[in-house]
Amino acid sequence: MKIKCPDGSVKTIDWCRQCGKCLPKPIKDSLLHGRERETKPREKPRFGVTKVVANCLRSAYYDMTEEEIQDLEKLWVFSRGHAIHEFITRTLGEEEKEIFVEKKFKHFDLIGFVDAIHKDIIYEFKTTTNIPEKPSESHVLQGQAYYSMLPKEQQEKISKILVVYISLNKIKQFEVPIRDITNFLEEQGNMLSAALKMKIPPNKELSWLCNYCSHQDICDKNGEYEVHNGNGNSKEDTKQSKITQE
Ligand code: SF4
Repeated sequence: MKIKCPDGSVKTIDWCRQCGKCLPKPIKDSLLHGRERETKPREKPRFGVTKVVANCLRSAYYDMTEEEIQDLEKLWVFSRGHAIHEFITRTLGEEEKEIFVEKKFKHFDLIGFVDAIHKDIIYEFKTTTNIPEKPSESHVLQGQAYYSMLPKEQQEKISKILVVYISLNKIKQFEVPIRDITNFLEEQGNMLSAALKMKIPPNKELSWLCNYCSHQDICDKNGEYEVHNGNGNSKEDTKQSKITQE
């Protein structure tokens, strides 16, 4: 990861840590703490759940192939979200929060951390500026993905999946349908693996979310290819029909 300075220049984490210009040192040290993680080369790719349920697989592809450049304001938003997660789960037992789940597929492995499972309810917490009217599709899929990745005996006990949005002044929960979406996860993961192997980004999935995408520049510069998800359907149709079949 590299850091984008308020003046627009891009610096290494080490440089940013030494520089005392923009933020008090303890705050900056805390924001940069643990951000230098290296990813190890693997025999087959390993994806986090959020990559395969992303609104746009092309964006997930760029997350994994382009150097990550973040500004300190974004890191503050992540860190604040993390602090809120810690607060709202502090009365839960260690075994009830940040539960690691993994599912191995032929071409990739899928991993994730369930925010919490308490009294047989899966919780997915989302910090946000504005509470939405309904949960976003990728958040619904994320909750369902965690359900799908649990061992069968634990799956059978799950009574609800809740997506909980938390803003600075409000909390709202949404119950989402319990659904095993393993086939959908495999299909998405296969498309992402193929794209990485061939070094060809998946097709654009244009939506209003492009306005907030950190890869918009490179996405605009690169063309479209038909090999990955060019089945003529929109992404929404594709997701819904795949999941309905499961
Ligand atoms: S700009 Fe839009 S289409 Fe391009 S990668 Fe980002 S979300 Fe996907």
